[in-house]
Amino acid sequence: MKRVLITGAAGFLGSHLCDRFIAEGYRVVGMDNLITGNMDNIEHLFELEQFEFYHHDVSKFVHVPGHLDYILHFASPASPIDYLRIPIQTLKVGSLGTHNLLGLAKSKQARILVASTSEVYGDPLVHPQKEDYWGNVNPIGPRGVYDEAKRFQEAITMAYHTYHGLETRIVRIFNTYGPRMRVDDGRVLPAFFSQAIQGKELTIFGDGSQTRSFCYVDDLVEGIYRLLLSDCHMPVNIGNPDEITIGDFAQEVLDLVGNGSISYHPLPENDPKRRRPNIDKAKDILGWSPSIDRAEGIRRTYEYFKKVVPLNN
Ligand code: UDP
Repeated sequence: MKRVLITGAAGFLGSHLCDRFIAEGYRVVGMDNLITGNMDNIEHLFELEQFEFYHHDVSKFVHVPGHLDYILHFASPASPIDYLRIPIQTLKVGSLGTHNLLGLAKSKQARILVASTSEVYGDPLVHPQKEDYWGNVNPIGPRGVYDEAKRFQEAITMAYHTYHGLETRIVRIFNTYGPRMRVDDGRVLPAFFSQAIQGKELTIFGDGSQTRSFCYVDDLVEGIYRLLLSDCHMPVNIGNPDEITIGDFAQEVLDLVGNGSISYHPLPENDPKRRRPNIDKAKDILGWSPSIDRAEGIRRTYEYFKKVVPLNN
């Protein structure tokens, strides 16, 4: 049986990846320090003999006994309010954490896939974003701790590939949503859903003309699975190119939930104005493109938030 280590296993994406690899017949070793993860996301896996879990911070030396075929490094705070709250941990997990896991991959002769991000493109001057765009990042802005850690992560991962011949994969993840997002992580989708469910005003930052392109989590997981098993060591964008303004997105949430109104607030510093992936590379080399449209995806996500958002707040 193949064995895979998934860091950030109790997080939104990590927990969905654990489910997918279990379903594919792998043994899964989950690892998380639980600073932004939630054990509820993986509670159902503990009864399985194929699943084990380490409560550990990957910024410190990582030891996993036994063989490993694959490592997926998904541990990191992933929302702008988390970077502001825990900036040093955000920098450490992307840099020191990645270094530790590359070392582990080398010693186990395992293939490693690291979770990079559309944030490597910063506030992009090129639209839509293609993998050969180098980005427009403010290193000392509020997002710098995440963006630069992820850019370093890509650099050290490529260095291990070229210098040590390590089998590496880099996925650049664009805005992803679905069940198990943390209700209070501050990102636009959990914010809008919890506000609408509670009959509060939806808080649009800026005038709502900035855009994002939202990918449903199952599509993302499929793309990552294919990339891991591919022979491509260069970065690949995985995301849904269906772009929408935040203002229009707020209206979609209001229409679905049938509740709430809108208020406007200052735009956070360095908030990217437009973001949309070019996914030609994923289409060409992985035969991948998203299959769940936003109407269906937000309907499924709404079912989840209805269960977890407290009503009496
Ligand atoms: N946003 C908003 N209201 C909120 C939270 C976020 O208008 O309550 C905006 C935010 O300014 C950004 C977009 O929604 O333009 C997406 O923000 P998010 O934090 O989800 O992710 P980002 O793509 O900026 O990392």
